[in-house]
Amino acid sequence: MTKTGLIGWRGMVGSVLMKRMHEERDFRRITPFYFSASASGATHRDLEGNAHTLLDAASVERLGEMDIIVTCQGGDYTKSIYPALRASGWRGYWIDAASAKRMDDDSLIVLDPVNREQIDAGLDQGIRNLIGGNCSITLSLIGLTGLFKAGLVDWMSIMTYQAASGAGAKYVRELLTQMASLSSHVATELRDPSTPVATLLEKARAAQHQPSFAQKEFGAPLAGSIIPWIDSDLGNGVSREEWKGEVETNKILGLPPGSIRVDGLCVRIAALQSHSASITLKLKEDIGQDAMEKLIREAHDWVDLVPNNKADSIGRLSPAAVSGSLRVAVGRLRPMSVGEGVYSVLTTGDQLLWGAAEPLRRALNIVVDRH
Ligand code: NAP
Repeated sequence: MTKTGLIGWRGMVGSVLMKRMHEERDFRRITPFYFSASASGATHRDLEGNAHTLLDAASVERLGEMDIIVTCQGGDYTKSIYPALRASGWRGYWIDAASAKRMDDDSLIVLDPVNREQIDAGLDQGIRNLIGGNCSITLSLIGLTGLFKAGLVDWMSIMTYQAASGAGAKYVRELLTQMASLSSHVATELRDPSTPVATLLEKARAAQHQPSFAQKEFGAPLAGSIIPWIDSDLGNGVSREEWKGEVETNKILGLPPGSIRVDGLCVRIAALQSHSASITLKLKEDIGQDAMEKLIREAHDWVDLVPNNKADSIGRLSPAAVSGSLRVAVGRLRPMSVGEGVYSVLTTGDQLLWGAAEPLRRALNIVVDRH
């Protein structure tokens, strides 16, 4: 059985990955070894009920005994351990949720419903690093697989609405703490139906600006607000999250850089789970809405194509509707009035599932199948 080291299994992505692997019985295909960056030596009971002694995630020697390493620990971990591990002569498969190695020539970005051919070709060529893509881009590509596979997309402008959990466990706690704080500040007035709404707004606004309002992680209030910047500042008006859109789209699709132009703004919103993206698409050839819908719907089993009307959009096309499921909802599809072959569409999906954990567990299975 394939010795598989698991790192970062306690975090947001890692815990969803463990759950999915348990549900799909992936653990029966591997021998798992649990590593920890913060609690090596402690005992961990896994979802199968087995006890494991946690191994040291900083030990190149122990990691080097693995055939496959799956890490959801984050980019700093990858940057600190990966070079030393390869330098030690390790030839195993490195499967990673972090962006650190995504754009390297010796890595594949894994999203097999979209790019299984590229994954197989890369593995045949000896590539041993399989990296999950950016969550927003991944979800948009999964939702619109049919259009991309048909080679129809000329360019896209993508405006994201990204959930707090996309930033990690600590950010979820902070958003919920902010929400609780807002709610407690207006609790008395809310109980009295005669309280003017202006009073509620004023008290909530004042709470957001109190020094005690929790914002260590986000650096700003998110509850009752938005944060229009995600990831680092590249210094040219573009955030690193926005930069990822074009480079990763083309890499995932196996196209030369810049083949499909992608740009847009990435915005953190107060959703807890699931990222949405409002996309303006320019098609190379206007095949019409019906044909587009057919391509989108029939691409694979995980698309929920939502009719473009109010009731279905409100009911099925939102983080609240899709969180916790592998369904990626695609809706609000319509031609735009600004030009021929230009369409609007909105995608929403659970960024912890198709946006992170699911491509990793599927990549693990692809590697195990070939091992
Ligand atoms: P995370 O929740 O912050 O977890 C990463 C590590 O933080 C854990 O393995 C854990 O390591 C430590 N940690 C510290 N406090 C914790 C707490 N209260 N609960 C759980 N873990 C805690 O990060 P993540 O969101 O899973 O992201 C992991 C990687 O995946 C990152 O590179 C990220 O960019 C990428 N990614 C994330 C998403 C997403 O939606 N979140 C989507 C795509 C890709 P120890 O156990 O060793 O302390």
